[in-house]
Amino acid sequence: MSEKSQNKRHIVIIGGGFAGINAAKNLRKTDAKITLIDKTNHHLFQPLLYQVATAALSPGDIAVPIRAILGDRQNVKVLLGEVTEIHKSEKSLMLKDGRKVDFDYLVLAPGAQYNYFGNKEWEDHAPGLKTISDALEIRERILLSLEEAEQIDDPKLREPYLTFVIVGGGPTGVEMAGAIAEIAKRNMMRDYSNFSKNETRIFLVEAGPRILNGYPESLSEKARKTLEDMGVRVLLDTPVTELGENKVKFSEGVIETPNLIWAAGVAASPLLSSLETEQDKTGRVKVNEDLSIPGHPDIFVLGDAAHFKQDGTPLPALAPVAIQQGKYIAKVLKKEATTDNREAFHYIDKGTMATVGRAKAVADIRGFKFSGFFAWLLWCFVHILFLIGFRNRFKVFVEWIWFYFSFKRGVRLITNRFTE
Ligand SMILES: Cc1cc2nc3c(=O)[nH]c(=O)nc-3n(C[C@H](O)[C@H](O)[C@H](O)COP(=O)(O)OP(=O)(O)OC[C@H]3O[C@@H](n4cnc5c(N)ncnc54)[C@H](O)[C@@H]3O)c2cc1C
Repeated sequence: MSEKSQNKRHIVIIGGGFAGINAAKNLRKTDAKITLIDKTNHHLFQPLLYQVATAALSPGDIAVPIRAILGDRQNVKVLLGEVTEIHKSEKSLMLKDGRKVDFDYLVLAPGAQYNYFGNKEWEDHAPGLKTISDALEIRERILLSLEEAEQIDDPKLREPYLTFVIVGGGPTGVEMAGAIAEIAKRNMMRDYSNFSKNETRIFLVEAGPRILNGYPESLSEKARKTLEDMGVRVLLDTPVTELGENKVKFSEGVIETPNLIWAAGVAASPLLSSLETEQDKTGRVKVNEDLSIPGHPDIFVLGDAAHFKQDGTPLPALAPVAIQQGKYIAKVLKKEATTDNREAFHYIDKGTMATVGRAKAVADIRGFKFSGFFAWLLWCFVHILFLIGFRNRFKVFVEWIWFYFSFKRGVRLITNRFTE
């Protein structure tokens, strides 16, 4: 299939995540023909995935079909398919099903995946949290484990089912640990009669000396204290040495549980290696100041897939970076017909935040540090604002209000067990 049309420039965007969607949305007033390709049919708000994994939200609350976002754009075509190869000199790419797509400009925003540091087999035992399927699998494991524990009378035998281990003390690990603590130490416990909340154990395991490594030290410390007050045991300087079925090993010992969750380290999409250009040690492509790759001013890499240095430091893999880069590329491509001068991309850091549990969060907004209830309100406001679509904003807002007052998690369904 050839997608080049006679006169119109053909811009192909790979990935409907934060970077790709923002590029496509902001290209609507061009005469270019745009094709957005994604291997899923939805845009996913990953920062709230942990709430699906912990039964607070439903998948539909945080995912929107890409067609529903871009459907009204006459010049935008949405293609469901997985890109497997890019031929940069030929200006074409291949999809998994053998289709070929030609482009004039390529915007690559395929995001990242979890990094098991060379231990691919660990993935089966400790799922990462990246997709809706991952979140549902984790939710299922947690709920099934509590059901198992309810049926075992010997406290020693039921201990593994009441134990939860989260590997990785970044924002995702911290948010997961806080949400699981709420389930296991508080709000769902009244539904089980065979065990008490004192039997549940939650471990947050971090290889480095502190959690929330990218945050100011005082906020890392606050988050650690808050988690410990909620009943989470935070193990610092504790690298995982082995991970097997229902167990995780460290130099100091072993924890047995089927509830292992991986939130440590990310690697960029494997698709990027077909660009045959310089990548950093996590696989991100080193891009120029206009996000193009060296020697190819018509191929751009953005979001989690890009290694972009600002003031000597690579930008972090965060949603606001991807959003700003998507908008920037749309601007560059809109101007491209009339000018060769591209302004350099510049990221405006509006702050970072992470929630630690119900009504608890930490935030660093332009050097001002907040924690506790106010930081949590700020966190709620920002997340609702960035969700796409009024329906999702409204639904999440209502769910959070309900959860705040009732302490009840609404989405506690086990769905796969009976279909196996
Ligand atoms: C659990 C979790 C929590 C997070 N929490 C926060 C947070 O609190 N704050 C924050 O700022 N950031 C957070 N992030 C990071 C943030 O979500 C990412 O930085 C952001 O999603 C990056 O956007 P992106 O567009 O580069 O990639 P993504 O949003 O990952 O989108 C990539 C898209 O490309 C598609 N794709 C991938 N490969 C292919 C292929 N070969 N062919 C076709 N399509 C493909 C994918 O299906 C996906 O739709 C979190 C991430 C995770 C996983």
